[in-house]
Amino acid sequence: MIKNNINYILENIAGIKQKNGIDYDINLVAVTKNFPAEDVLEAYNCGITLFGENRIQEADIKYNSDILKEKKLELHIIGHLQRNKAKTAVKIASMIQSIDKIETLDSVERHCSLINKKIDYLLEINTSNESQKMGVFPEETDKIVEEILKKDYKFCNIRGVMTVGPLCEDQAEIRKSFRNLKNIFEKLNKYFQKKDFDIISMGMSGDYPIAIEEGGNLIRIGTGIFGKR
Ligand SMILES: *Cc1c(COP(=O)(O)O)cnc(C)c1O
Repeated sequence: MIKNNINYILENIAGIKQKNGIDYDINLVAVTKNFPAEDVLEAYNCGITLFGENRIQEADIKYNSDILKEKKLELHIIGHLQRNKAKTAVKIASMIQSIDKIETLDSVERHCSLINKKIDYLLEINTSNESQKMGVFPEETDKIVEEILKKDYKFCNIRGVMTVGPLCEDQAEIRKSFRNLKNIFEKLNKYFQKKDFDIISMGMSGDYPIAIEEGGNLIRIGTGIFGKR
């Protein structure tokens, strides 16, 4: 089942790329929240090496379990990160996609420095301006970027931006939100001026085709691979 789902999604991505003349890689994060280590292993055995988790404690237990701990896989934190979880997050992840506060970043930097580990991160942007959602509001991105530049972090390396599209069925709204993220990416790219500022993380099971059409290059799929939670 997981294998069929992965094949279906990979073929779909290839089709969308071809139709839109996209010549860069679209990378896939398999989102494993609420699914057991056995399912992660099954996806891994199908060639998936990049995984995403929302909750730090769940991720720590799952990815340090006997069946996964020796595997060559990468873990991204994609859910809201509380500062008191930064220590564990730094230990288990190669990237934190959901940074939306300078205080969280300070905390991540500190824990990275303690174990001398570099970590990548994305700024999460609230592109649909929904008040209940996480992420930096688009009009506040300049401010947080200025702070980041001033801090000159040694361990935390910004790689791009991430958003969760609006949780609605309205395709136009979803597209607007993704287009918004692409524009913010272009703007921030001018600030940072570095080659590895290259990730636009958007699109989930329900809306990844739109995300790819709008320039996303990292998509995060849970349900589409593992089934309903
Ligand atoms: C759960 C989750 C996903 C995956 O969602 P699906 O609809 O199951 O594909 C992607 N991104 C974030 C931030 C999530 O929390």
